[in-house]
Amino acid sequence: MLHRLTLPVTAFQQNCSLIWCSDTNEAALIDPGGDIPVLMQAVESRGLKLVALWLTHAHIDHAGATGTLAREHNLPIVGPHPGDQFWIDGLPQQSSMFGFPKAEPFAPTRWLHEGDTVQLGGHTLQVLHCPGHTPGHVVFYSPELKHAFVGDVLFAGSIGRTDFPGGNHAELIAAIKGKLLPLGDDVTFTPGHGPESTLGEERRHNPYL
Ligand SMILES: [Zn+2]
Ligand SMILES: [Zn+2]
Repeated sequence: MLHRLTLPVTAFQQNCSLIWCSDTNEAALIDPGGDIPVLMQAVESRGLKLVALWLTHAHIDHAGATGTLAREHNLPIVGPHPGDQFWIDGLPQQSSMFGFPKAEPFAPTRWLHEGDTVQLGGHTLQVLHCPGHTPGHVVFYSPELKHAFVGDVLFAGSIGRTDFPGGNHAELIAAIKGKLLPLGDDVTFTPGHGPESTLGEERRHNPYL
């Protein structure tokens, strides 16, 4: 079975997700933005083996601890889409701008594209390229859990900012309406910040859609 746990990290309370397969005890962290002791405590207290780091996009609160974790635990870095290379290059500046600990540089082991899949134990998640908040933003969708990890694309009652370099409001709306909402009203999602919601709730009541 596939399990998940939300771990808010950094001063921005970014929702890092721990996801694991209870048949193999293999685990991945989605968006390890910081607070490494909190993340490793969640992994180790469950007796899990961390096997990968998955990134939705390369903003500091989502990716800040990636380089250090990958080096210390010899982990592959999966994602985001190559459109976020300039955000990865800019992580040191993002660290100092937002008062974060210095982010270790890293290079993704595997870039992700629309239609790709990622594996954990015997489980498969789908990759959706959803640009707009950043050009290389991806979403991970588990058909088995009917749950999506959407990063800063969509929030309960809001949508991602598009006023950063490379942001594009029309692309963001197109990704939400063309790729996320068609997954189905009953699909739940973990946003990058704040509470969970369902796609149906957002389709009906989100004022930005
Ligand atoms: Zn972001
Ligand atoms: Zn964020």
